[in-house]
Amino acid sequence: MHKPSSHSEFEIIRRFFATSNLSFPREGIELGIGDDAALIEVPPNKHLAMSMDVLISGIHFPLGADPSLIANRALAVNLSDLAAMGAEPYCFTLGLVLPHSDEKWLAGFSSGLEHLARQYNCPLVGGDTSRGPMSICIQVQGLVEKNRAARRSGANVGDKIYVSGTLGDGAIALLALGLDSHLGSEFSLAVSEPSAACMQFFEDAYFKPHPQIELSSAAGKLFSSAIDISDGLQGDLQHILDQSEVAGNIRLDAIPYSKSALSCVSPENRLLAALFGGDDYGLCFTVAEKDCVELEAIAKGLGVSITCIGDINAGEGIDYLGADGSPVEVVPQAFQHFSATTLTHGSRLK
Ligand code: ADP
Ligand code: MG
Repeated sequence: MHKPSSHSEFEIIRRFFATSNLSFPREGIELGIGDDAALIEVPPNKHLAMSMDVLISGIHFPLGADPSLIANRALAVNLSDLAAMGAEPYCFTLGLVLPHSDEKWLAGFSSGLEHLARQYNCPLVGGDTSRGPMSICIQVQGLVEKNRAARRSGANVGDKIYVSGTLGDGAIALLALGLDSHLGSEFSLAVSEPSAACMQFFEDAYFKPHPQIELSSAAGKLFSSAIDISDGLQGDLQHILDQSEVAGNIRLDAIPYSKSALSCVSPENRLLAALFGGDDYGLCFTVAEKDCVELEAIAKGLGVSITCIGDINAGEGIDYLGADGSPVEVVPQAFQHFSATTLTHGSRLK
């Protein structure tokens, strides 16, 4: 019988993925890693929500970044998609392509998946491991009550538009970490050396985005539509508007910014980051006006910050409004993967 060498695919799976911290038991997971396929139950009153994100080294994360941070980010952005559907995390699978088997890297990567997997009771149930240019593909499965998922197509005229958290931090983080941004040469920090607290904040914003699972499981029933903000508010809200066949307005002075964004970036660049930057992973969602009081009470109870930034109207497109309510022109510049700059290992990146 062929015995795999110490760094064979099977050895990697056993040591780094079929571990008790990642591949732990959970109700409904009949069979996890080890057979030709995992077996999972779907309760009769639920839909299985499935979402996948592919992360390519040098494009979606910097070459040479800490493997545990890459892992955390890879799982977080997938969980964020489940939050945007109002689905509860159930389990995930991992497709991993590595140029060579590097034990230290694998140990860091594996430990970086554990925190969110445990926090959301979302075990690793299978995957595939192969050799090639580094890329990470995670597919998450979630459960959502039948016909209760928050679709992009559900926004109605008269609804309020909300966002969770603060906007623009993911894009500003690229600057703070010394990485290239697709937002152009004018997009820069207003300070030469951000404080240590700001640097930590931006590093966390980029590598440890918080998937809004708590908000979505408690208040998702009130969302008429939802999306997670991965490509900038402008482009992501536009998806809701297109699929719902409605228009929206955004009050620019209502857009919430972090203290770090306020202290490190000019007002123009903050707006650019919020509308066109991406990588924020908060939720943008719409709620009927009659449900806003209940929504705000739920968010307050959870300690999750949410902000009403505008309204859904009849028509199409987004109108931006200044502090006095008059229209403001904003040039569209949504993130395009095929024109994206390559992330390089910046001087400030640990
Ligand atoms: P097969 O050849 O049938 O596809 P594999 O040898 O690829 O099986 O995988 C063996 C087992 O290990 C399967 O249960 C598979 O789901 C799991 N597995 C492979 N790679 C990973 C990974 N990166 N993470 C988690 N499970 C994995
Ligand atoms: Mg396989």
